[in-house]
Amino acid sequence: MLLTFIGTGSAFSTIPGNFHSNMLFEATDPESGEIRRLLFDCGSDARWALRALDLGYADIDAVYVSHLHGDHVGGLEWLGLKSYFMGQGKRIPLFVPEPLRRPLWENCLKGGMELLDFGLADLSHLFEVEEVATDDSFTWMGAHFHLVPLVHLRGGAYLMWSYGVFLETEVGGVLLTSDCRFERDRLDPWYAKADLIFHDCETMEVPSGAHAHFHELATLEPGIRQKIWLYHMNCIERPDAQGNGFLGFVEPGQRFDLGAVR
Ligand SMILES: [Zn+2]
Repeated sequence: MLLTFIGTGSAFSTIPGNFHSNMLFEATDPESGEIRRLLFDCGSDARWALRALDLGYADIDAVYVSHLHGDHVGGLEWLGLKSYFMGQGKRIPLFVPEPLRRPLWENCLKGGMELLDFGLADLSHLFEVEEVATDDSFTWMGAHFHLVPLVHLRGGAYLMWSYGVFLETEVGGVLLTSDCRFERDRLDPWYAKADLIFHDCETMEVPSGAHAHFHELATLEPGIRQKIWLYHMNCIERPDAQGNGFLGFVEPGQRFDLGAVR
């Protein structure tokens, strides 16, 4: 299983040559021998980020959605409609955490995708939707992606959740946080289980409160920091990740070989 960051930027980033923090999991189909690709989040940069890697809508075999910000779901209109019209109605499998299923359609996609050639559509006309319970996992190419519910935003009494994933591969437990605040009571059990961590990391001077900030992550114990790759950058100038005991900042297009899945 390979993990490629098609971008490592934040929602606001305009770093040349970088795109939103979306990823590709790639695996070889044992039956056909062909490469299969699961897109982890499909933000509004996705079509250009994929183009930069010589990939297009037809190369995407499945999509997972972690939360409903535009840099994570804003490309689904492009992907769904292009696949519907150019791919002869092909519906790409879409894994979606159960609480996001309704608002993904009603609040994010319906306005631009509802009217099709036959009449009024639902999300299931455009994608092969598979809801995933927040304490469960979905399986793709033999890998079990366990959902990792984390708090992304706090506003008054309200929370916005984002659902990272945890999977077991040859390199051990792999945690991909998705966008999340630095809330240790929720993160610590996953830090303990993981051997390799890809962590949301804000680098803005003034913390937004929506993301784990570099200065917060730098307070982690050395044993945790040494398992962490950082991503979701805001600016070209970055703090010294390796000097602070992290593995580094992920570069746009960087690929990680996770080995065989377990
Ligand atoms: Zn977000």
